[in-house]
Amino acid sequence: MNQLRDGFKRKIDYMRISITDRCNLRCIYCMPAGLPRPIQYKEILKYEEIVRIVKIAISSGVRKIRLTGGEPLIRRNVVNLVKMLKGIKGIEELSLTTNGIFLAGYAEELAGAGLDRVNISLDSLDHEKYKTITGGGNLDDVLKGIEAAEKQGLIPIKINMVPVRGINENEIATFASLTYRSPYQIRFIEFMPFGSRESWTPERFISMDEIKSFAEKAGVLHPVDVKKSGPARYYKFDGASGVLGFISPLSNHFCDECNRLRLTADGKLRPCLFSETEIDLKPALRNRFSSDEEIERLINLAVQMKPRGHNINLADEKRTRLFSSLRNIRPMYKIGG
Ligand code: SAM
Ligand code: SF4
Repeated sequence: MNQLRDGFKRKIDYMRISITDRCNLRCIYCMPAGLPRPIQYKEILKYEEIVRIVKIAISSGVRKIRLTGGEPLIRRNVVNLVKMLKGIKGIEELSLTTNGIFLAGYAEELAGAGLDRVNISLDSLDHEKYKTITGGGNLDDVLKGIEAAEKQGLIPIKINMVPVRGINENEIATFASLTYRSPYQIRFIEFMPFGSRESWTPERFISMDEIKSFAEKAGVLHPVDVKKSGPARYYKFDGASGVLGFISPLSNHFCDECNRLRLTADGKLRPCLFSETEIDLKPALRNRFSSDEEIERLINLAVQMKPRGHNINLADEKRTRLFSSLRNIRPMYKIGG
C-alpha cells in the first residue's frame, strides 16, 4: 500500500479541505477588518475536482478528510459533497469544522450522507459576547446545532474555543465545566497570529499553560489518552463525562507529529499552516491532458516540501517581529482551519 511520507519520515494521512473562503460570521480573531474580497467563484474548486484530488490522495495513503472553510455549511449542496467523498473507498474518517450556526438544519442530512463527526467553534456562552466576537452570530443557533449533531450521532462532539485575553479568558473555566455533564471534547486553541481584525499581540495571546491554569479553576485535571487525539493534549476532571483538549501551536508546537496537508478553496496545497509555500493543483486539474499521475506527483511534491517545523519559538526575543510578519499571511478563513 502506498503511504505518503515527508522528508522527515512523518506519515501524511490527513487532508483538511477548505471548500469556501466565505463566511456568515466575522470572528474577531479570524476575519480581517473591512469586507475581505472573496475568491472568485470560477477559481473555487468544483466538487468533482475535490473528489478527484481526494481519490488520488487516498490512493497515496491519506485516510482522514476534514471539510472546513470559511464556513463549509454555506456552500451549496455540501451534503452532496459529503456523500461523494464518503463513497470513496479507503476513507476512514470524514469530519467537518463549522461555526454551528446552520448545523441544526443540516445535522440529519449530513449524518445521513455519511459524515462521521463535527467540530464546532464556540468562543463564548454569553449571548452578547458571542455576538460581539462573531460579528452578529446568535448563540442559540449554535447551541441548537450542537444538540442536533449529538442527536444524529455526529460524535464525539468537539468544541473549539480560542481564548483571547481581554475578550473571553474569563469563560475558560465555564467551558471546561461543560465536560462534567456532557461527553464533549472541549478544545482550547492558542490564538495564532494571522491576518485578523483583533490583531495578534503578545498581550492578547494566552499560552496553553495559562489557559490550563484558568481551566483548573473548575477542578483538578488528570492527563488522559484519547484515541486519534491529533495535536491536542487531553485532560479530564474526576467524574467528568467529557475531556479537555489543549492545542498549542505556538507555545509548544507539535510539528514532529504533523500528519496533515491543507487544500485551500482555490486549489492550493499547503504543506504547513505557517508557511506561504503552496502548490497549485488547479492548472493540472483544469488541463484535460493532465493525468491522475501528474496530480499525484504534485501532492507528493507538497508532502516533500513540508518543513520540519515552523520555527516560531515563544522564547525567541524577536518573536513580536516574527509574529507581525505572520499577520500578513493568508488568514485562517482563507487557509481552512
Ligand atoms: N467557519 C468554521 C469554524 O469557525 O469552525 C471553519 C473554519 S475556521 C477558520 C476553523 C477554526 O479556525 C475555528 O475553530 C477557529 O476558531 C480557528 N481559528 C481561526 N482563526 C484563528 C486564530 N487566529 N487563532 C486560532 N484559531 C483560529
Ligand atoms: Fe468564519 Fe470560522 Fe473564521 Fe469565524 S472562525 S470568521 S466562523 S471562518
